[in-house]
Amino acid sequence: METSSEDCCVKVAVHIRPLIGDERFQACKECVTVVPGKPQVQIGTHSFTFDYVYGGSGFSSSAIFEECIAPLVDGFFQGYNGTVLAYGQTGSGKTYTMGTGFKDGCKTGLVPQVMNALFSRIETLKHQIEFQLHVSFIEILNEEVRDLLDSTSISKSDTGNGHAGKATVPGRPPIQIRETTNGVITLAGLTEVDVNTLEDMAACLEQGSLSRATGSTNMNNQSSRSHAIFTITLEQIRKLHPSIGGEASLDEDMGEEYLCAKLHLVDLAGSERAKRTGSAGLRLKEGIYINKGLLALGNVISALGDEKKRKEGVHVPYRDSKLTRLLQDSLGGNGKTVMIACISPADINVEETLNTLKYANRAR
Ligand code: ADP
Ligand code: MG
Repeated sequence: METSSEDCCVKVAVHIRPLIGDERFQACKECVTVVPGKPQVQIGTHSFTFDYVYGGSGFSSSAIFEECIAPLVDGFFQGYNGTVLAYGQTGSGKTYTMGTGFKDGCKTGLVPQVMNALFSRIETLKHQIEFQLHVSFIEILNEEVRDLLDSTSISKSDTGNGHAGKATVPGRPPIQIRETTNGVITLAGLTEVDVNTLEDMAACLEQGSLSRATGSTNMNNQSSRSHAIFTITLEQIRKLHPSIGGEASLDEDMGEEYLCAKLHLVDLAGSERAKRTGSAGLRLKEGIYINKGLLALGNVISALGDEKKRKEGVHVPYRDSKLTRLLQDSLGGNGKTVMIACISPADINVEETLNTLKYANRAR
């Protein structure tokens, strides 16, 4: 596979959701404006330019998919790894944008659109190419990696005993991250489900989403303090055909090309700082750990995005967190990455919105 600097770039999109019920109830004003015809947002006296900006009137989630994500799907079929990261404070629309919440956004979100695109393309190519798809779904909470598809540890909250949600399931050992000699990151003992149909894949997404840890904070009682990573692995075996005009040869004379790529779809933990959520004790510890992952991610992406630094071979701090370690072989190298910064337009969130835009700006 050839490497070119173009393939390494990180694209940044901003997604501004509309005011939601609670904000309307509090009579919030909108404080974010989109500069017409430009991927630029203004908030107070601050102005930021990104690769793409979505929101306001005329927004459609299929536009995000077509512009930002479809190129990753194309690369995926060519054997390139890809990463989609949804960043933002709790309540800013990360889960809605990704479509992993199994509520309102689940049909139109990005993950379901990725799955549709994958299976429709496979359908058209399956006569020439042999495909194998696997999925895994993990979360990182308190710097520990947990397997959301481990069927031996499915949340007991579904048994109807009235205890909705769950804490960490006892007896579910954290997964260890390993790196092979050729730089491929693997997770020891992780459940990888072979999927043949769209329905199989959607079932994995749903199962994992339901068992994802959530905890209540002052800010939002559905607040997610963990990073959730849904990973699709695509293996392809392509029969190489003899050159045109050549003798018709037997199967054994034709070579095979093998391609394998990973696509990580990441719903990051809320980016708000611990003090805003009024956390204490354990929750505060979790807040600090979450910041560790997001901090490391910011540093890694900024190091990768800096052409000059990259040429000088500057150290990329992947090892500073589990999140960056896990995404190491996709963020660097030939991987394509899209970060979607999700923001609320409401004036009460102006401080966190500015933090999100500054973080996203650093990634460019
Ligand atoms: P996060 O995952 O960042 O905590 P959510 O995705 O759960 O945030 O969104 C918070 C609330 O806002 C949810 O009730 C969701 O339905 C709503 N919401 C988010 N984005 C949109 C949008 N683009 N359009 C309408 N409602 C949205
Ligand atoms: Mg969420």
